[in-house]
Amino acid sequence: MRFGVENYKAVQARIALACARAGRDVAEVTLVGVTKTVSPEDAAIACQYGLKVLGENRVQDAAAKIEALRQKGLAPQWHLIGHLQTNKARQAVELFDVIQSVDSIRLAETLQRHAEARQRPIEILVQVNTSGESTKFGVAPSEAISFIRELSGYPQVRVTGLMTIGALDPDSSKIRQCFQRLRGLAENVRAHHFQDVTMRHLSMGMTDDFEIAIAEGSTMIRIGRALFGARP
Ligand SMILES: *Cc1c(COP(=O)(O)O)cnc(C)c1O
Repeated sequence: MRFGVENYKAVQARIALACARAGRDVAEVTLVGVTKTVSPEDAAIACQYGLKVLGENRVQDAAAKIEALRQKGLAPQWHLIGHLQTNKARQAVELFDVIQSVDSIRLAETLQRHAEARQRPIEILVQVNTSGESTKFGVAPSEAISFIRELSGYPQVRVTGLMTIGALDPDSSKIRQCFQRLRGLAENVRAHHFQDVTMRHLSMGMTDDFEIAIAEGSTMIRIGRALFGARP
């Protein structure tokens, strides 16, 4: 996988077009470059071309990459987008600016403890399983409100939005439904005015479906293959 500046320009053009069609400002949509399985060298080049936020799905792989970029004087925002086990929570709190994949109270409790120990809150998104696919992580939509109510009791765990992965389905209306569900949930959460909970971010949309996600209100798209080519 190689970073290609022409890929980057093409993605930016697709984002601009999707925003124009939706009557949205491109500044509302943050591009997260997904560097899982991408070499530190290519991740560094992506930063040098202007990518400001990078996403990784494994703590271990991210640790080496974050350090390699830091040594080159590059400090993008790092987001964890993959499932997090509680035994890696301490390292995750140290490494990442945002953990997008929180979906259990046990994990939130562990994050709270580590954030408290370092005396700085950790920003998180709640992952919601909007497709109902059993292979996907995330809380069920029907449980999201009570889950976030409980999270609002953890002051060092700052919820700033929701994250989802669209259905793996050739029928784009199924994918769209996932994104609509996430947006509807965010509105519902807002109406509850939970303490220390904001709904600034809707992290939804990947290489194959980000235009649909932007049309449905995404503020954060997570793009791997369109920037770096197919994964091995
Ligand atoms: C791999 C991954 C992405 C990026 O997927 P692409 O299809 O390569 O754009 C986005 N989000 C999550 C959670 C991922 O695991």
